[in-house]
This record gives sequence, C-alpha cells and structure tokens, in this order.
Amino acid sequence: MLLTITSTHQPASDLSFLLHKHPDKVHEVEISTGKAHVFYPEVSETRCTVCLLLDIDPVGLVRRNSGPRGNDFALEQYVNDRPYVASSFMSAAIVKAFSTAMNGRCKDKPELVTVPMPLEVELSALPVRGGEAVVKELFEPLGYTIHLQRHPIDPKFPEWGESRYFTVRLSNTLTVQQLLSHLYILIPVCDNDKHYWIGQQEMEKLLEKGMDWLPTHPAREFITLRYLKHQRSLANQAMEILLKDEVSEDDEEETVEPEQKLRIHDVRLQAVRDELVNAHAKTVVDLGCGEGKLLRLLLAEKQFERILGMDVSYRSLEIAQDKLKLDKLSPKQRERIELIQGSLTYRDKRIEGFDAAALVEVIEHLDEPRLAALEKILFKYAKLVDVIITTPNAEYNQRFENFEPGQMRHNDHRFEWSRAEFQQWGNRIAEQYNYNVVYKPVGEEDPEVGALTQMAVFKTRNSL
Ligand code: SAH
Repeated sequence: MLLTITSTHQPASDLSFLLHKHPDKVHEVEISTGKAHVFYPEVSETRCTVCLLLDIDPVGLVRRNSGPRGNDFALEQYVNDRPYVASSFMSAAIVKAFSTAMNGRCKDKPELVTVPMPLEVELSALPVRGGEAVVKELFEPLGYTIHLQRHPIDPKFPEWGESRYFTVRLSNTLTVQQLLSHLYILIPVCDNDKHYWIGQQEMEKLLEKGMDWLPTHPAREFITLRYLKHQRSLANQAMEILLKDEVSEDDEEETVEPEQKLRIHDVRLQAVRDELVNAHAKTVVDLGCGEGKLLRLLLAEKQFERILGMDVSYRSLEIAQDKLKLDKLSPKQRERIELIQGSLTYRDKRIEGFDAAALVEVIEHLDEPRLAALEKILFKYAKLVDVIITTPNAEYNQRFENFEPGQMRHNDHRFEWSRAEFQQWGNRIAEQYNYNVVYKPVGEEDPEVGALTQMAVFKTRNSL
C-alpha cells in the first residue's frame, strides 16, 4: 500500500526538511502490524515526491488479533484486504514516520512549518464505504481538488461490477502539517473498518489532530462518528468538546464594573482555596479550570501534592499552560500538576480518586440533562471526600444597574439560582449520595439579597 506526497513549492526539496527524512536514504519505521518504508523517487528544485510504503505482515496481523473471540479459524482472518489497502494502519504509519511534521516542528527550517504549499497526494488503494460521494464530502470542504479512479472487482469480469477501492489523487495548497492531519483522520473514515479497540485515547487523538479544522467541517458529525467506529457516546463527547463555545471567566459578569469584577473573582478563588486547605486535601482536581487561576493559587500551597485541571475548552487549557508557565517549572513542581481536556458530563476515570474537587462558576454553564449527568459523575463515581462548588446568586442581580428581570450575567449561563434553589439542589444531592453540605456567601453580603456568589461545601459522610 502506497501513499505519495508531491510538492512543487520552490525549492521543492524543502519537503524533506519538513518531513525530517533525508532524501538520499531509504528509511524504515516499525509499526505494530509490520513496517513502513519512506523514500523519495524524485527530488529536484521544482518537484519532490516522497513515498510511504506499508508492508503489513498478514500472518502477524491474524496472530496479533486472535483472542478469545470464538472464530479463531475463520478464513476471513487470513484472506482480507487489510495488508493491501490504506486503512488505519496507514494513519499509524503517518504518525510514526512523520511525527515531527505532524506536531508542527521543523528543526532546520522552522519558518517552513506555516507555509502553505502546492501539494499532491496519491493513495493507490483506498477503500471507501459510500463511494465517490463520501470522498467528495470529506475532502472538498477542505479545499482539495479530487481525482478518483474506481477499480472493478475483477477487470477480467466487468459484469461483476465495481469494487469499493479507489485510486485517489488529491491536490491542494496548504501546510504539510495540515495535509498530514487531514489524511490521518480521513483515511480511516473513508475505510470505516476497524483494527483495534476504540476508546478514550482514540478520541483524544481525533481532537488533537482535528482541532484546527474539524469544528468547522460540514461533515464533522459523520467524521467523528465513523472515526470513533460508531461509538455514539464517545462521538457525542468528542462533538461536545469540539463545538463547545469558548468561555472565559474574564467574560463573566459582563454587567459588573471591570475593577469590581477582578476583585470578586479573586475573592472567590481565595475562598475556594481556603476551603480546600482547611479540608486537608492532598490531591485536588479543578473541574472547568478555565485559564488556570485557581490552579495557580493551589500550586503555591505545598499541601497539594497532586493537582489536576480539566476543561472542555482546548483554548483555555493552552492559555492556562502559558500563564502557569508549566514548561519553566522545576521537574519536581511539574510533576505536581497536570492539565487535561475533557467534558464533565461524561464519566472519565482520570478525575476519579482525588481527595477534593472544585467547580468554580461552572455548573451554570450546563443545561439540565447535563447537570444531571455531572451530579452522578461527581458524587457517585469520582468518590471525592470534599467538593466545593460556586455559582452566581441570582438574587443579587437586582443590585446591578440596568438589569432586566430574568436577565443573566453571561450569555452562556443556562440558569442562575437563588439561594433557596441552590440549597434545594445541594441538599438533594447530599442526601442522595451521603454527603454533608454547608452553604457560604462569597463576597460582601447584602442583608436583603445576600452575596454576589454562593458556595456549597460538601463533605462525604463515608469518611467520618
Ligand atoms: N473555573 C474557572 C473558569 C470558569 S468559566 C474560573 O473560575 O476561573 C466556566 C468554565 O467551564 C469554562 O472554562 C468552560 O470551558 C468550562 N466548561 C463548560 N462546560 C464544561 C464541561 N461540560 N466540561 C468541562 N468544562 C466545562
């Protein structure tokens, strides 16, 4: 199975710098199912072609896959197309052979990474479930010109009709990194077959490689679903992460004066930190950590040995990573903290088993069915000793100037609760999951409407 990429960007030999593969050598990379070879049939100033040739071991493939599946001696295991077509094995080879380029790095000529170049791709045997229309639906919105040749099942017997295999030629002007990320995701989507277990890790790969283009692709749902091999719950989770509007707490409380806003948020974060300190938590998770302001306060406290920040927004996590200067921390400090992308509305083992969790101004961003999912994840599965939650106190809104009745503080808020509503929710949860809960005002308390923010502090009864 062969993939070729041709550049006519001048000088065309730049392609070899971008791919980190010397044009005079044949390179071999091991993949779990065989080998991949990288070589250049053509290198000149005007045209440079690189080939990625997959050499899958058909017998090894069967051995690797044979498990307690019941059909251990099915003929299909030995006689199938897998060694000879572009499938997820090709994606595995692309990632292995061209990882530096996929990560957007180029040691010798870093300026090339962001340069769009005229590139042509040929895939010699791409299986496509759904035929020509699917290839077009996938590649045209990304700007590719497509040339397809469909192969008959057997050229000697034209009456047998067409096969699902195509020779595909694609051309486009884009960066090498973009091209590789498109191929990495869309080859297995065309094929729509599977060769390994699809789980959380696959979803993360999809999100990482597709982050720049998948959210705006018209076929994003189809791509996500096929890539994740029709696992609805994973696909939904991925879609939610991809499509989530970016929210930053800096946009919160648009109605409050800028200076007051800063102070209020600081007061809130300090209040949460103090609760976590007093709870004697050693391991904490900040759910919906946004740009990492609470994480910064937590890092300064030696008491916290392990700190995890999770958010659905990739952009916020990038900002958090920058602001916390994670790459400048000493190895010992660096070990204490980790940032992960995920959604709070799906069970995720990575957030389980911590002493405490904080959700600062997060719950009001979830609509009701999702809030119900969050409750379970947080109180049933995560097995936390302490949970600290803050949310706006809606009663306070009448103190804002020019505030209409029923108006909310931020346009992404799905609800804002009065103190009674928050306590009703919290009390029900505490009862159901065996926690004690106390409520505290955060910020100055108005005798009539209470404080701007309300906080619930839950402690499990199981540890008493
Ligand atoms: N806790 C932070 C940010 C609050 S803004 C702070 O106080 O500074 C709300 C945050 O919740 C945003 O960063 C948003 O991306 C995140 N969020 C919204 N829905 C989420 C979900 N389903 N899973 C995880 N995070 C979510």
